[in-house]
Amino acid sequence: MSTIRLSPALQNLKPSATLAAAAKAKELKAKGVNVLDFTLGEPDFITPENIRQAAVTAMNAGHTHYTASGGIPELKQAVCAAYQRDYGLKFAANQVLISNGAKHSIHNVISSLCGPGDEVIIPAPYWVSYSALVEIAGATAVLVDTTEASGFCMSAEQFSAAITPKTRLLMLNNPSNPTGCAYPVAQLEALARIAVEKDILVLSDEIYEKLIYKGAEFRSFASFGPEVAARTIIVSGVSKAYAMTGWRIGWTIGPVEVIKAMDNLQSQETSNPCSISQYAAVEALNGPQVSVEAMRVEFEKRRNYVMERMRPWRSQFGITFAEPGGAFYAFFNVKSCFGRTLLGGAKVDNATDFCTALLEKAHVALVTGDAFGAPGYVRLSFATSLEQLKAGLDAIERFLAG
Ligand code: PMP
Ligand code: GLU
Repeated sequence: MSTIRLSPALQNLKPSATLAAAAKAKELKAKGVNVLDFTLGEPDFITPENIRQAAVTAMNAGHTHYTASGGIPELKQAVCAAYQRDYGLKFAANQVLISNGAKHSIHNVISSLCGPGDEVIIPAPYWVSYSALVEIAGATAVLVDTTEASGFCMSAEQFSAAITPKTRLLMLNNPSNPTGCAYPVAQLEALARIAVEKDILVLSDEIYEKLIYKGAEFRSFASFGPEVAARTIIVSGVSKAYAMTGWRIGWTIGPVEVIKAMDNLQSQETSNPCSISQYAAVEALNGPQVSVEAMRVEFEKRRNYVMERMRPWRSQFGITFAEPGGAFYAFFNVKSCFGRTLLGGAKVDNATDFCTALLEKAHVALVTGDAFGAPGYVRLSFATSLEQLKAGLDAIERFLAG
């Protein structure tokens, strides 16, 4: 009989559904199946050359030691300079903490601010790790359902209604993974006003800030005045804008007390993020920004292609969706397929069944909306080549036609 007993916080913890779906697709590929994989949200581009070169230079210069646990001053300065340059926002270096990717930044924020008895408001659909990280901290996620009709944006009324004396934090992701929704500026500002009025801290995950498509506009949550900025904790990083997912550099910008607490935690838990990656991130932020726009333009072409292909699905198959204004995901409702057997697969009763049958019968890998608090939906990442997207959408179409 085993005597192993896991910590109560981990007993019910599920693995990241996005990473699990990607692992399953990889496993099938290893068996020789030609899987069209649209699971992971990560740019398919290699990190731009000037950034790779900066890492080589850093290594050769001997930047191979521990750094300050919260990151090198040069990178904190580069983050401050980038926000001033791009958004006109002024931050001091002691308001910045560098961590091992934005996921780690989010973990640090939640662990520093929340514990048992605290509530964290999360608009659903939400990115998989949000609810899990709240659970790890022992706090309670309060989910606020948003709809396709409202572009998956939480209204000011919904936010107000979800606030209780136990509310510690609102977690907002704009533009959103998985929906691609980008908040209209007025609606974002209305949320900011309530955060000030009710004195609620806001974790604003802005990791997709540079991936914005026509008609949409990005505004940092901290840009709505000093009272809002005083309650905002921005999380972002180099993963998406600079195609640097593997380098693991994210940052948090916020009130000095929160940053200090997070730095203490990080110094005990992980020490500094990779020294070489930090120097590469300095070049990403300070160097030429042309590759950011070049990659955004490519993503926009792919987004437009995917939307052109999917629009007829509304009338053909009863598939519905809101068109993404940012990020690189198509998020669509497959409830019209429930009760059907497609391409001779097992009967589809929910979005997870849909993904399982699609993978088995059409060799296309998507992520189920169940993982994002959105039953009935599935997510397709279009951060992949047009050629692969064409093959994938052809295969999904054959599957939907049954
Ligand atoms: N936030 C959102 C909304 C994401 O989609 C991701 C996925 N990469 C992250 C944070 C984490 O990013 P990183 O790879 O820098 O940890
Ligand atoms: N954020 C990406 C996604 O949602 C990468 C995987 C992950 O970190 O969950 O697919």
